Amino acid sequence: MVKKPIVAGNWKMHKETLEGVNFVENVQSKFSSISNVTVIFSPPYTALFQIKVQSPFFKSAQNCHWEKKGAFTGEISTSMIKSSGAEYVISGHSERREFFGDTDKIVNKKNIAIIKENLKPIFCIGETLDQRESGKTQEILNYQISEGLKDIDTIDEMIIAYEPVWAIGTGMTATIEQIEETHSYIKNLIKSKYNLKDDIQVLYGGSVNPNNAKELINVSNVDGFLIGGASLDVDTFASIIKIVEDNQEKNNNG
Ligand code: PEP
Repeated sequence: MVKKPIVAGNWKMHKETLEGVNFVENVQSKFSSISNVTVIFSPPYTALFQIKVQSPFFKSAQNCHWEKKGAFTGEISTSMIKSSGAEYVISGHSERREFFGDTDKIVNKKNIAIIKENLKPIFCIGETLDQRESGKTQEILNYQISEGLKDIDTIDEMIIAYEPVWAIGTGMTATIEQIEETHSYIKNLIKSKYNLKDDIQVLYGGSVNPNNAKELINVSNVDGFLIGGASLDVDTFASIIKIVEDNQEKNNNG
């Protein structure tokens, strides 16, 4: 089965509840017939529970706790996320790693909890600028993948987002060669660890916008995008969806 490309927006800590609801209604109303792309909105929890989506539009949480319930003030579990109608959860985002102490071990616990709840992880990995410049990108990604997937046997529904930390929110995108090389490294690594029916989907994230989306979606082994800044405006986000939709339609028609 050929999986559709994915356009996922990560709102981070933006948009109050009603604003989020209206935003998603607006985007969906622009695409009454859309068939070649999967679109995922990742609002804050407050809006996550109010937003209504219809396939091929889906909802994702930006984070979760790995325990089912308990004395964890301020946290929410994967079953709570599921009760919102979300189907995806972002794990390992570099902002969680940097500002909230999400280590590879914690990311692994979250991935396990997400899969146990029959939700789909959007598992983020990526190197810092220092690590890239000192030639350690593959070593770092190998470590993040090995640790993040420890004790996980089934990853058929997992999505990996390759997000070079230095490209997130900076306006700098990785070069075509860097993306191509890194995505193929990630896919080969996953193939060496798992016997998958279909290739795992690997998204690129890092300053994707309507001006670079067409070129980036055509890079080999790029299966879609995880988008921060450019997912916050209806027209900007919609134009990226349209680029990916049209591109895929063209590919399907040979
Ligand atoms: C992100 O936060 O996942 C991201 C890719 O952000 P931006 O698109 O703003 O670089």
